[in-house]
Amino acid sequence: MNQSRRNRVLQVIRDCPDEASKTFIQRKTRMGMESTIVMVNSLLEEGLICEAGVSGGSVGRRSTLLRINPAGQFFIGVRFNVEHVWAVLYDFSLKEVARTGRTVPRDTNRDSLIAIVTQCIRAMCGMLAENRDRLCGIGIAAPGINDYYRGISKRYIHIPDWVDVPLAQIIGDAFGCPVFVENSTRCLINALHLEEAGLKNVLLIQVGRGVGSAVLIDGKIFRGSTNSAGNIGHIRVTDKPIPCECGRTGCMETMCGYPALRRMILHAKGAGKLAQVSADFQDPSHDYQDLIGLAARGDPDAAACVKEIGFYVGKGAASIIPVLNPQKLVISGMLAGLPDFCRAVKDSIEAVCFPEVIESMHIDFCDYDDHISAVGAVLLVYQHFFSAQG
Ligand SMILES: [Zn+2]
Repeated sequence: MNQSRRNRVLQVIRDCPDEASKTFIQRKTRMGMESTIVMVNSLLEEGLICEAGVSGGSVGRRSTLLRINPAGQFFIGVRFNVEHVWAVLYDFSLKEVARTGRTVPRDTNRDSLIAIVTQCIRAMCGMLAENRDRLCGIGIAAPGINDYYRGISKRYIHIPDWVDVPLAQIIGDAFGCPVFVENSTRCLINALHLEEAGLKNVLLIQVGRGVGSAVLIDGKIFRGSTNSAGNIGHIRVTDKPIPCECGRTGCMETMCGYPALRRMILHAKGAGKLAQVSADFQDPSHDYQDLIGLAARGDPDAAACVKEIGFYVGKGAASIIPVLNPQKLVISGMLAGLPDFCRAVKDSIEAVCFPEVIESMHIDFCDYDDHISAVGAVLLVYQHFFSAQG
């Protein structure tokens, strides 16, 4: 069967606001009615679409209506980092069927982390029961540097032996289906694209342990010529000689990510401030939550910390915005709920960018659900399914 025509028919049925009739499909695809009927029958036989009643009205011929069969295909998405693994199972109508998660023990290594990822995928496969053979593929939202085209997770500095991991092959061999590996920030922007129709040009900056970004251009993830577009963590945002893990100084990551929070907490404590914030750094996110909670309650010393981070996030964003002229800038991460942080980001951008460049740009601040990058990973598989040519 002609794969691209088949996909075109599926897309028309998927995108139809109501159930689609054969006449509607024929009109949209510009295929002959004979071919349309053959294609529709074949898709019904494959179980990818199903009948959804007949068209109403007393005038004219009544015709069978069609829609995507939710059980036609299933997709698994996984996101992981050094602390946690999240997994979701979605059906063919892009509805969530199940989700799960596991905590990653301290001092994990490459093999133990892959084992936890595998456990989560196995749990999702278990939910498929008799539909196991309808698993279309697995998408993986990976941290660090990844080669989407080869399915290799190249480097994740928090796990020393995580170097050139052929993740697509390892997981593909274990589960017998196609596997796609993509950077988790890009997966996040993919998920946002699904949630908000009409999003075309978006810059997403994720501020957390590190700093990452992803770009959507004309509705598609922009990967760049060597697949490294969006690696903004190590652009220089200050001349201050503050060392970064990469060996250089003044990087965005060292001024905005966990290293910045850690440095600020220690500095403030040295000056007798932020007494309420724990600083054992056994569980860094716990210490940072203390700081964020304090800032949210209006503590001026905590507020000063988040404002400083906001300043550098804005400074980094402002160096990219004029190149892209995005319709939307999304700043995500655990600081995104703090008004002081948001104001500082905006002020910093406005101080650098010409008003004409940013006047129509909407800025969203959001601390997204941890599973959302796993949903974006589902979409990697889903998009591949619909774009497959034969
Ligand atoms: Zn750096």
